[in-house]
Amino acid sequence: MTDWDRVRRLMGEDNLTRLRQAHIAVVGLGSGGGFVALSLAMSGVGRFTLVDPEELEPVNLTRHVADSRYLGWNKAEAMADLIRHRNPDAQITVAKDDILKHPELLDGIDLLVVGVDGEGTKYKLNELCLARNVTAIYAGVYARGEGGDTCIIRPYDGPCYACWAAELRDGMGDQSGEEMDYGLIQDNGTLKAEPALWVHVVRVAAAQADLALSVLLGGARPALPANTLVMANQALEIVAGQTTPAHSGVWANIARDPHCLVCGDRLRVADQSISLDDLSDMLMAAPSEDDTDSAARRLEDEA
Ligand SMILES: [Zn+2]
Repeated sequence: MTDWDRVRRLMGEDNLTRLRQAHIAVVGLGSGGGFVALSLAMSGVGRFTLVDPEELEPVNLTRHVADSRYLGWNKAEAMADLIRHRNPDAQITVAKDDILKHPELLDGIDLLVVGVDGEGTKYKLNELCLARNVTAIYAGVYARGEGGDTCIIRPYDGPCYACWAAELRDGMGDQSGEEMDYGLIQDNGTLKAEPALWVHVVRVAAAQADLALSVLLGGARPALPANTLVMANQALEIVAGQTTPAHSGVWANIARDPHCLVCGDRLRVADQSISLDDLSDMLMAAPSEDDTDSAARRLEDEA
């Protein structure tokens, strides 16, 4: 039914074949994740694992690719239906549950697209991906849709999400003013309830989907300038002292922290047999960062 001629002419038969064989998981099929899943299906990706425990509600209709015909459907199931209407040949696994109860769903995938909002869940997905050597693409939309960011996290090749978040999610989920403590971060880092217009959410989601294509197609596409794109939907001060105009963005390369408590060298060497006492010693010994440092100031330092 679907005629892939225009996609084929754009990227070539070999690349379209690569995408058809690619298996991605999308965890969180809300406004962003749903848009990414559908966009990747329309670009030729052929195998999906879609994970979301929630149902589509009336409040979702102003910013979701699924419309009122899907009210009451599980969001992952609704997305599977929409994808099949674009690509009847797509192979789709649907899980109507919390990914943390089914980590095996990430076994053997080529890429994870993170569509969840909660920072706590993102940290747990980070660990699951490190254990499986799975590359993941995260995204976040800022309050009121003023902007957002998306990043590629390759296990042990650049930062893990914890390293990355320590730079760009400074203090999120921790209102105490103390140094961010991995493991204590709660789901209250979420931006879920924030009002934002669909056009601003999907602008960030479209960038996330495009980064996903770059990862899946590897060297067949020009290399990306850095691992993180920070986008301004309206004029934003992303880099201290500089206004980034609306509808533009700033690329930033976030480095891996060798002392990271999740992917750091010492933990890797220590393997799984580490004792709580050892971990406590490491926490005490880890060099502390200035937790008042803003992402903007870090970017300024790097510039
Ligand atoms: Zn790390």
